[in-house]
Amino acid sequence: MTGIWSKAASAAISAAVSLCAVGTSISLVASDTPELNGLTVHNKGIGGQNTVQGRARFERDVVVLRPGFVFIYFGLNDALNESKFVPLEKFIANLAWMVERARAAGIQPVLCTIHRVIEEPLLKRHKREAYGNEGPNGKIASYNAAIRQLARQKNVPLADFAGAVAASRDHPGASIIRPDGVHLGPDGNRLLARCFLDAVGGQLTGKENIVCFGDSVTYGAGSNSAATAEGDTYPTFLRQIQIRTRQARPPSTAAAWKAGIARTVITPEKPVWLAGYGSKRVPEGKLHDLWLKALALEDATGRRAVLVTSDFQGIPKAMADRTCEKLRHRFGLARDQVMLTYSHNHCGPRLTGDLYDYYPVDAEQEALVDEYTAQMEAKIVETVGAALSKLAPANLRIGEGRATFAVNRRNNREAEIPDLLAKHKPLKGPVDHAVPVMTVTGANGQLLGILFGYACHPTTLSFTQWCGDYPGFAQLALEKNHPGATATFINTCGGDQNPLPRRRVELCERYGRMLAEGVETGLKQPMKPVSPVLRTAFEFVELPYERVVTREELQAELQNKNAIRARWAARMLKKLDAGEKFALSYPYPIHAWRLGKELLLIGMGGETVVDYALRFKKEFGPGTWVCGYADDLVAYIPSRRVWEEGGYEGGSFLYEYGRPAFRWAGDVEERIGEAVQRLVNRTKEQQ
Ligand SMILES: [Zn+2]
Repeated sequence: MTGIWSKAASAAISAAVSLCAVGTSISLVASDTPELNGLTVHNKGIGGQNTVQGRARFERDVVVLRPGFVFIYFGLNDALNESKFVPLEKFIANLAWMVERARAAGIQPVLCTIHRVIEEPLLKRHKREAYGNEGPNGKIASYNAAIRQLARQKNVPLADFAGAVAASRDHPGASIIRPDGVHLGPDGNRLLARCFLDAVGGQLTGKENIVCFGDSVTYGAGSNSAATAEGDTYPTFLRQIQIRTRQARPPSTAAAWKAGIARTVITPEKPVWLAGYGSKRVPEGKLHDLWLKALALEDATGRRAVLVTSDFQGIPKAMADRTCEKLRHRFGLARDQVMLTYSHNHCGPRLTGDLYDYYPVDAEQEALVDEYTAQMEAKIVETVGAALSKLAPANLRIGEGRATFAVNRRNNREAEIPDLLAKHKPLKGPVDHAVPVMTVTGANGQLLGILFGYACHPTTLSFTQWCGDYPGFAQLALEKNHPGATATFINTCGGDQNPLPRRRVELCERYGRMLAEGVETGLKQPMKPVSPVLRTAFEFVELPYERVVTREELQAELQNKNAIRARWAARMLKKLDAGEKFALSYPYPIHAWRLGKELLLIGMGGETVVDYALRFKKEFGPGTWVCGYADDLVAYIPSRRVWEEGGYEGGSFLYEYGRPAFRWAGDVEERIGEAVQRLVNRTKEQQ
C-alpha cells in the first residue's frame, strides 16, 4: 500500500493541517496560508476493511481524536468483498454502534450510502455466485436501503453518495469510478466530499476537527496525490470545498454586532436537593429565584456564539455534551460557538452526575434529579433559541472594576479572618480582585445587558434555601439599578477563593452589593468599544491522572469512614466488575473567543485556581478574561504551584468528582497552557 502523501505534496502544503494516512501520521505545520488554518481532517480509511474491523478501531481512530464530526463510509467490503462479507443485519448493527458511540463521545456522526460499482471489472476478480441472485449492485441496493432506514431511525445526517453517483453517471469523461469498477477517481472523491458537506449543511465553519472513517474509498486507493499539490482523496477535497464555501459567504454590510439576550427561571418546583457540601440538603423555600441566561452574539460577517450563564453549582459533562449536541442539531451551533457556564452556586440544585458520590443514595431523589436535569437541558436549548431569535444591532463595550471580598482560602484560616480584617492586616496568597465588565447596548443606546465576572466560590451560604449566593444578589442589585437590563455573571478562576467571613445572609447580600458596586465603577469609567469581529475555537485537551486507582485500593476504601469515599469505591468496583477499564486521562474542555482586538475570553472547565487567570492575563495582555466553571464541573484544576503544595485543590481528592483516580499528573498546567496558546493562535489566524 502506498502512502497518500508524497514528499513533494507534503512540502507544498502548509498550515496547521494534520492529515493522518494509514499507518503514518503527518503533521504539517508552517504556513502563511490563513484560509487553511484551524481545520483538521483525519484520513482514517484503511483499504479492505469492513464494519467489524472499523468497529474494533473506532475508539482508537475516532474517539480519541475528539473530532466534531465523523464521516462514516463503509459497506463495499461488507457487501462485495467475498473474504470480508458481513451480513446485512450485522452490518447495520455495526453502523448503529458507531453512531451511538460517537454520540456518547459528543461527536456528530454522518452516514453515507455506498455507490453502485461497475460489475464487469469487479466480476473479473470475484465470482458472480458469491452475490447470490441479487448480484453485486442488487446487494448494494439492499445495504443502501438499510443505511437510509438507520439514518432515519436514529436521526443521523445522511450523505447520499449513491444517489449523487447515479445522477452523475451520464456526464461523459467524468472520472467518478476508476477502471477497477469500485474505487473512486478524482471526480468521485470530489463528489463524495460534497455529499458529506451537503449532509451537514451550514454546521461547518471551516475550523472543525473531522475524522473521515472507512475503507479504501476514504483512504483514497489509487489516488495519484503525488502528482498534485494537494492530493485528490475525498478528505482533501472536503477541506478545499469547505474552505471555498466559507470564503464565499457574503460579508454583511452592517459593521456592528448583533446581540440577543434571553432568560428563564430554573428554581426547582420539586424537592431536588441542594448541590455541594457533600450532604443531603432538602430545600426549604427560596430567598430569590435561580436563573439561566443566554447572550447570543453575531459579528458583522454573521459568525455567532452563545454564552450561557446559570445559577447551577456544576454542569456535568454528560449534560453539557447532550445539550451541545441538541444546540448543534437545532441551531447549527458547533461546540466552539457555545459556552455553558455555571456560577458554582452552592444554593443551587443537583444535576445528574455532577458529583456522583457526594450525596446519600436515594432512588426517589435520583428520579427527581434526572427529571430536573432533562428539563434543564430543554430549557437551555429553549433559552438559546430565544436569545438567537432576539439578535438585533448592538454595541459592546468593556471595562473593569474591583471587589475585594474574595480571600485565598488555602493561605488564610477562616476563623482568623475577621480579626485580620478588623486590624487591616494583609491577607495571604494570590487573589484576583478584578471585576471584568461588558455592556450590551441596543441601537438606540439602551442598556440591554451587563456581563461581569469575579473569581470566588459562591459559598457564602450553606443553608437550604434557593438563592444565587453573592452572584445572585449582585445580579439583582444591578438589574434594580438598570431597569430593562439583564445582568449575567461568570465565575472567573475562583477555585481556591472563598468569600470570607461567611455563613450569614447579610454577608452574602453585602458581597453581592460590593460586587455590583465594582461593576458600577467599571461602568462609570470610559469603556472601550469592542469591534464586531468574532472568532471562536474549542478543544478537549487530555489531562492525565497521576495514576488510576487499583482494585485493591478500592476494596480497602469500601471501609473508609468518609461516606463519599466509600460510595465512590463501591461504584468504581462495580465498573471494574462490569469489565470497564479506567481511562488514563480526562478530556478537558477549553474555549478561546476573540471579540475584536479588544477582548479575549478564555473558557475553562472545572474549578480552576486563581493562578490560571493571573497567568493568562499576563500572557495575553489587557482585555483578557479567564472564565473557569465552563462546560463541565470536572474537578479542581490545580496550577503547578498548587499541585506541588497539595492540599484540597491540588492533592488526592479527584474521587470527590467521581474520577477513577486520586490525583492529576503534575503537568496539567503545562498541558492547559499549551492548549490555550494553540486556541488563542487559532482565533488570531482566523482574523
Ligand atoms: Zn468548588
